[in-house]
Amino acid sequence: MRALETTASRAAAWGGVIQTYAAYLPVTDATPVITLNEGNTPLIKADNFVRAIGGEFDLYLKYEGLNPTCSFKDRGMTLALSKALERGAKVVICASTGNTSASAAAYAARAGMKCVVILPNGKIAMGKLAQALMHGATTIAVEGNFDAALRIVRELGETAEIEVVNSINPVRIEGQKTAAFEICDVLGRAPDFHFLPVGNAGNITAYWRGFREYHAAGRTDRLPRMFGFQAAGAAPLVDGHPVSDPQTVATAIRIGNPASWQGAMDAASASRGHIGKVTDEEILSAHRSIARHEGVFIEPACGAPLAGLIRCVRDGLIPQGSVVTATMTGHGLKDPDAAIQSAGCQPVVVQANTAAVMKVIGL
Ligand SMILES: *Cc1c(COP(=O)(O)O)cnc(C)c1O
Repeated sequence: MRALETTASRAAAWGGVIQTYAAYLPVTDATPVITLNEGNTPLIKADNFVRAIGGEFDLYLKYEGLNPTCSFKDRGMTLALSKALERGAKVVICASTGNTSASAAAYAARAGMKCVVILPNGKIAMGKLAQALMHGATTIAVEGNFDAALRIVRELGETAEIEVVNSINPVRIEGQKTAAFEICDVLGRAPDFHFLPVGNAGNITAYWRGFREYHAAGRTDRLPRMFGFQAAGAAPLVDGHPVSDPQTVATAIRIGNPASWQGAMDAASASRGHIGKVTDEEILSAHRSIARHEGVFIEPACGAPLAGLIRCVRDGLIPQGSVVTATMTGHGLKDPDAAIQSAGCQPVVVQANTAAVMKVIGL
């Protein structure tokens, strides 16, 4: 009974990433904390997947799909909304491939602030659109891609009452680095390698900062090598120039001109890491594989680092016994259309009798 009580009180005590990591964040006692108790997401060991891809190392998935709005964006948004409220902004605005808008809409609702989201028309996964609308954000779809939407937002951000909550807002990255802290706190060390998808490149910048700050504070004895992956049709960092018409099934990383370009390049080079690209076929195959082997349902973008890991294993880049972590940035239910396409099968329709069902089961 005692163990149960302890678990229950710990769960109740988790007050979100600002409360937990305030010492590492740009907040003071005067900062109003807008939180949905984000963070504290599970680090799931994925032995079946490692065996299936022929590796001999420990892989842990940081399952960020279990944040309050089902993506890692909540870590930065709690800080962005808290700071916006602190300075007296009236409206928050963002351009989004979907998850930033879902998170901004939820945290703005909680803060009692107006939220405006600018989306690329027709390129938003259904779950994410539902969230923005449900939380009451003014939702505007522009006839253009994410990069065009971000350009508009940057211009509107010059207005004093409006706070831009894209990752060009530096506090977003500050909040997002807490995921690296959690990984180290749970493992009791930093990993040897960290894998994650790269779109606008804020998150790879944030993780690298988090790992470095924990190392500098003496909380870990090493730094991981940072391995970021883009989709082949939206891989400006790999191709070395902005992509004007980015294309990929992984809509969360369908970005042609990343705002944190330099942050991503610095993370890869300073950590002796790598920014690579993988095809949509590889992304969807990994997306399905992790669901089938591990019971972990992710959105397509998270297939990119898994596909990248498969390549690295094939190329002999992951030494036996390594500790590898990978961020699963968003939940699979965000994008049910992609999931059904990825599953590659449909329900079998039969007559409503036992014999017909038994036949399908194969008994
Ligand atoms: C935002 C997002 C990404 C990309 O993160 P960046 O910080 O833009 O590189 C990847 N996956 C999901 C699910 C996201 O929501």
